[in-house]
Amino acid sequence: GRRLMLTRDVTAIELAEAMRRDFVANVSHEIRSPLTVISGFIETLQTLELSAEERAHFLALMQQQAQRMQNLVSDLLLLSRLEGSPPPDESECVAVADWVSEALTQAQALSNVLHGGSQTLSVVAGPPRLVVGARSELLSALGNLLSNAVRYAGAQGHIDVGWQERADGGLEVWVRDDGPGIAPEHLPRLTERFYRVDRSRSRESGGTGLGLAIVKHVIQRHGGELLIDSVVGQGSTFRLTLPPARIRPAASAEP
Ligand code: ADP
Repeated sequence: GRRLMLTRDVTAIELAEAMRRDFVANVSHEIRSPLTVISGFIETLQTLELSAEERAHFLALMQQQAQRMQNLVSDLLLLSRLEGSPPPDESECVAVADWVSEALTQAQALSNVLHGGSQTLSVVAGPPRLVVGARSELLSALGNLLSNAVRYAGAQGHIDVGWQERADGGLEVWVRDDGPGIAPEHLPRLTERFYRVDRSRSRESGGTGLGLAIVKHVIQRHGGELLIDSVVGQGSTFRLTLPPARIRPAASAEP
C-alpha cells in the first residue's frame, strides 16, 4: 500500500523524472541551436545583396546545420527503438570479418571527407567467427566507435580496428586511436546522453552526443559490455565484448 512506499522508491521516481526533464531540455537545446543558425542565414540571404559565391557559402553552412539535425533525429529514433524492443534473438548473425570491414568502409569514407585521406585506418584480423545478433545494430555500434576515432584522432591519426577471442570464450572487437585521449574524470560519464568532453569539437565534426549511449545500449542488449581505456596525449581504446553464447565458429555459416 501507499503508506509502505519506501523513501528510496520515492527517490528513484524523482530521479527518473529529473533525468527525463534533463533529457528533454538537452534535446530542445540540440534542436534549437542549428535552427537558430539556419534562421539567421535565411535572414542574411533575404536582406543582403550577395555574390553567387557568398550565397553558395551560406547555403553550404545551412546544409551543414540541417545535416546536424538529421543526425540527431536518427540517433534519437535509434535509441528509442532500442529501448522499446526485446534483445535480439538467434535469427540473425554476422561474420565478424564482414561486420568489421563494412564499418571500416564507412569510416574510411568519413575520414576522406574530414581529413582528405591523411589518416591511416587498418584492420588487425582475429579468428573467423560468427556473431549471433542484430546486424544493423552491431554495425551502427562499431560504426560509432570508428567515426569517433576518425573525428577525434586528428588529420595525422592512426586508427586500428580488430578482434580477438576472450579468456571466457567470448569475443572482443576493439577500436584504437592515437588521438588526444580522454582524462580519467570523464570516463565514467562518457556514455551518458549528450555528455561531451569538448562540446564545440564534437559539434564541428557532426557529433550528436548520443553515439556512445547507442554503442553501450546495443552491446548490453547482446549481453556484452563497452570497455574504455584512454591515456591523455596517447590515445584511446574502445572494446566491445560479446559473451560466448553469442559466438559461433565461422564454419557454421556454410549451408
Ligand atoms: P559525440 O557525438 O559528441 O562524439 P559520443 O557519445 O560518441 O558523442 O562521445 C561522447 C564524447 O566522448 C565525445 O564528445 C568526445 O568528447 C569523447 N570521445 C569519444 N570518442 C573519443 C575518442 N576516440 N577520442 C577522444 N575523445 C572521444
